[in-house]
Amino acid sequence: MLVLSHKIQIKNPTYKQEQYFRQACGTSRFAYNWGLEEWKKQYNAGKKPTARTVRTVFNALKPVDFPWVFNVTKCAAEQAFSDLGTAFKRFFRHLGRYPCFKKKGTHDSFYLSNDQFKLSGSKIRIPKLGWVKLTESLRFSGKILSATVSRAADKWFISISVQMDTAPLKKSENQALVVGVDLGVKHLATLSNGETASGGKPLKTLSRSEARLQRHLAKCTFGSKRYIRQKMKIARLHYRIRCIRIDGLHKLTHHLCQGFKIVCLEDLNVKGMLKNHKLAKAISDMGFYELKRQIEYKATLFRNFIVSVDKWFPSSKKCSNCDHKKEELKLSERTYHCDECGVSIDRDLNAAINIEREGIRVLAY
Ligand SMILES: [Zn+2]
Repeated sequence: MLVLSHKIQIKNPTYKQEQYFRQACGTSRFAYNWGLEEWKKQYNAGKKPTARTVRTVFNALKPVDFPWVFNVTKCAAEQAFSDLGTAFKRFFRHLGRYPCFKKKGTHDSFYLSNDQFKLSGSKIRIPKLGWVKLTESLRFSGKILSATVSRAADKWFISISVQMDTAPLKKSENQALVVGVDLGVKHLATLSNGETASGGKPLKTLSRSEARLQRHLAKCTFGSKRYIRQKMKIARLHYRIRCIRIDGLHKLTHHLCQGFKIVCLEDLNVKGMLKNHKLAKAISDMGFYELKRQIEYKATLFRNFIVSVDKWFPSSKKCSNCDHKKEELKLSERTYHCDECGVSIDRDLNAAINIEREGIRVLAY
């Protein structure tokens, strides 16, 4: 079963609505941090804490100690404890770090279980708040599982996750059979048919204006009104940059899944790549995690085969014409010259062709 989330912007929230959202995010964060503290306490006392034991203590205390949690949906606090439980589970399985305290202003959000809200066209009803306008209505049909309200710069969003009735098979005409994709620094992607995806050229000018805003911020008194206003300007710019990036990724992944039956990619070992500092910024800018996420769900929609080529496969060092393998290839060499057969080819295109070949070989194996 395919679960998709539709993220919709909340349309012109009123002062009262915004206050509610902020309070609910605060409640959620407070419960999480309180729970983490309590978890450590129980652990140090020799007990075996779980999300439930921590929540029980919280619920017993809340009528007297934290009466304000009743001002917002009960999900705000409740979900925080199950999130904490999940974070510890991940930690115990060595999938994540030890949970840390949540900071105000970063990833502000709260959760709503499906019995806690009601949708009607482009409106949503939230407990203890009432109807809230959305910029569009839900595009997916199926069982609604949950929703999460979150903030980005000065905008609020609701992400509604839906278990799709039927996987909406998308039509793809004139689909070519196979493509190899080389993900890189100079271009976001180079395809084995010679196409390239730039993935966000306007970002250069925007990062210049970011630097200007940051310089201005440094001159403001910390915590002053001007400081807060300047910070919001930066947050809005970050939001814009993120939108451009994600849009570029969507265009690329859509083109790949819609245009080709079989998509061969290098195994995206992002962690390993990020260790290389020179590549780190360029790669995190391009958002390879996001790319992986998009390509995975789109492959289900378009029924593609995604072939992961081993990350140790020497896609750049090999000659796509004669299979000769170079011992060394500097990152600065943008053109591949083969000493064996004399071919000269763009470095990234050479890699993309090799990835396509290797993908076919893996698939046939
Ligand atoms: Zn060659």
